[in-house]
Amino acid sequence: MRHKVIAGNWKMHKNAQETVAFLNDLVNNMPTGKEVEVMVAPAFTNLMLATQILEDTNITVAAQNMHQAEGGAFTGEISADMLKSVGVETVILGHSERRQYFKETPSSLANKVDTALRHKMRVIFCVGEELKDRKSKQFQNVVFYQLKDSLFHLPKEAWENIIIAYEPVWAIGTGETATPEEAQEMHQFIREQIAHHYGSLADNVTILYGGSVKPDNAKTIFSQPDVDGGLIGGAALNTADFTAIINAI
Ligand code: PEP
Repeated sequence: MRHKVIAGNWKMHKNAQETVAFLNDLVNNMPTGKEVEVMVAPAFTNLMLATQILEDTNITVAAQNMHQAEGGAFTGEISADMLKSVGVETVILGHSERRQYFKETPSSLANKVDTALRHKMRVIFCVGEELKDRKSKQFQNVVFYQLKDSLFHLPKEAWENIIIAYEPVWAIGTGETATPEEAQEMHQFIREQIAHHYGSLADNVTILYGGSVKPDNAKTIFSQPDVDGGLIGGAALNTADFTAIINAI
């Protein structure tokens, strides 16, 4: 169901002690009266700690990645069943850093999506163009194929468990943000493509923006009609910024 989400992608930051301190601080300073799902995505080693600390709260926990196989000889990998066994119900897939540094491909991502959904997990699926694609005006084409190649094989019912995060690669960790109009244009485009393939369910899909969202730009981005919240990197690492962004929704 379409709803507001603010998700913090911690990437390879925060050890166990820092995770405990951050989450206790967040729980004590959580904005109240907001209709928004707040989510954190710590490193694998801290997921169990996070689900335990957040057990009696509304804050949800996501993993940053997952392997597509059920199990087996895949040294260093983590399966859907392992995530679920520590209380994690949501997984971020297709982050541009995974695509770029770990060579995740559209077809391996489609397999990961299928595995996550088979395990009744929710997927935050990241799409976004590089700077060269924006400059050459290919940005919509690139995002269209990212959606088509990894998601458009899914049956209609699966979309209940899919959240899209539009993250222009040139805006991630760079301090550059898409303008609110650029974000809206792409979010609307994404919703139209989903509608083209699946019809009216597109209106129920949550689409997040990610890329250098900070307390001072969050409000104008979130006020766009097709922007349902944010996937936040750097500004999700301290509670003052993160709670300010939650308050901006
Ligand atoms: C991200 O990595 O998903 C992200 C949006 O990072 P940042 O907010 O730091 O640009």
